[in-house]
Amino acid sequence: MFSKKFQRKYALTDQGLKNTKKGTFWTVIVNLVVMGGVGILYLLTGSFMKTLTEGAPLPGAAVPAALTFLFLVLSFITHLQQYQATYGLVYNEVKNVRLSMAERLRKLPLGYFGKRDLADLTETLLGDVNRMEHVWSHVLGYLYGAYISTALVALCLFVYDWRLAIACLWGVPVAFGLLFGSRKIAARASRRTKKAALRASDGIQEALENVREIRAANQEDLYLERLNRKIDEHERIMTKGELGTGIFINAASVIMRLGVATTILTGANLILSGKIDFMLLFLFLLVITRIYAPFDQSLALIAEMILSQVSADRITELYETPAAGGSSRFTPNGHDIVFEHVDFSYDKKEVLHDVCFTAKEGEVTALVGPSGSGKSTCARLAARLWDVTGGRILVGGVDIQTVDPEVLLGDYSMVFQDVLLFDDTVLENIRLGKRGATDEEVLAAARAANCEEFVNRLPKGYDTPIGENGARLSGGERQRISIARALLKDAPILLLDEATASLDVENETKIQEALSRLLCGKTVLVIAHRMRTIEAADRIVVLSEGKVAEEGTPAELMGRNSLFRHMVDLQRQSAGWRLK
Ligand code: ADP
Repeated sequence: MFSKKFQRKYALTDQGLKNTKKGTFWTVIVNLVVMGGVGILYLLTGSFMKTLTEGAPLPGAAVPAALTFLFLVLSFITHLQQYQATYGLVYNEVKNVRLSMAERLRKLPLGYFGKRDLADLTETLLGDVNRMEHVWSHVLGYLYGAYISTALVALCLFVYDWRLAIACLWGVPVAFGLLFGSRKIAARASRRTKKAALRASDGIQEALENVREIRAANQEDLYLERLNRKIDEHERIMTKGELGTGIFINAASVIMRLGVATTILTGANLILSGKIDFMLLFLFLLVITRIYAPFDQSLALIAEMILSQVSADRITELYETPAAGGSSRFTPNGHDIVFEHVDFSYDKKEVLHDVCFTAKEGEVTALVGPSGSGKSTCARLAARLWDVTGGRILVGGVDIQTVDPEVLLGDYSMVFQDVLLFDDTVLENIRLGKRGATDEEVLAAARAANCEEFVNRLPKGYDTPIGENGARLSGGERQRISIARALLKDAPILLLDEATASLDVENETKIQEALSRLLCGKTVLVIAHRMRTIEAADRIVVLSEGKVAEEGTPAELMGRNSLFRHMVDLQRQSAGWRLK
């Protein structure tokens, strides 16, 4: 129970928890061995004092030398073990945490990525884990080890002399009380710093992504000034936060050290009243030099632990977000897509209301409607990129919410507007459509998608790297790569988002040709913009404000005074106007 809470609090994996226990154990041993060294020093000084004061014979060198040697050997072995159990094992823990987080991210519903943007997630995977790495390696084992070993030593001190023990140790609980009392302040400062850091990194990422637009609009100065302000604000908030915690840490450290003064005062009094002898005070003074040492280290560490709590929480939150699960068996009866009374909201606001329609296998179903009417949302839901909030979606009679998204997506190809390309060659980017596809298969798909003509113009043909997210390709070229991927995959369901923007007429014809090869015999759901696609569709679903306004074949809808006919007329007029 305690273990689970501890593990959750510090975002540890199971292995990490075991390692921390190991680290704590070895820290206790190290601290006790060091105290043993103090004991040896005490014994040696005691016998010298006896020689000095009582004229006892000088002790032989053999025993102290043997003890010191033993101490050194023990010290070496235990420090080595401690090092391996803390620093050594932590690097594995960092790897494990990052891998399991990446694995987790893969399984999370896409809705999660809408809530946390890219800079935020990157910060968790890199920054937060880094911060926790320091806590795992430098803090947990050391701190908990210090608690235990100090408690043991304190127990011994009380057995020797409770008065001196109190004089020596009273500062420890007071110092820790002060630090824990200030925890809320520190945590608040830490959250504020984190937010400011995210704002700054968001700003930087945004600037890098939009550098072209910013330049084109001649907004560099204004933009840089805004970015500067965000960075300055981060610096200011961070300094303020660290100053705040710094004050508490130093105050705690000073209070703890007051113990030295009170021990001397109490000891002197006790000696004067004849209650103890000088050697006992000497023992306490020796111990005191060591007893604060682990705490000195841990005071700074506690501050770090408090500050890192925000990071730990962010990592834990990621682990605890429910994954989009489901059965790994998907055996649909055909591939008709049926929307049954589907409601959906991204956040609170419902954007689809009671949507019902069927996209039949072997047909092209076109979703049309004004911008913001919910077309893309329907396409995303059909592939379970999000889960519906009401109603259900069936594919071949199977409710897709019961199927593991990874398995489900095996039956889908998607050609969306925002084609995602990787910084690799053209060939590899197309091969992503089907794992293990041969070069011949990839080339055939590329040819069918009309990629040949632009690829031949690239310096190394299919082996040309295309830059980060296809920076070296035009919109139409990117889309053809994505069509080639879909052709290669040859999945029974195709979701298509037509982009009209940025395509010239020649490109459009080539894409149209490529698409017609792709559509054959599939269940096709297309977010249609082009009149040609719309008129050629088997079925039209007109969406308006998140509802199905009309449904039918193009001829049926054109035959009556429909919203669809009105839209077609409008588009014809504007197209005609453009031609003149
Ligand atoms: P269309 O594709 O017809 O232009 P969308 O499906 O993109 O329409 O959007 C439907 C509604 O959902 C719009 O009001 C839009 O603002 C909203 N919306 C779309 N995507 C998101 C999102 N990721 N988060 C919140 N709201 C969204």
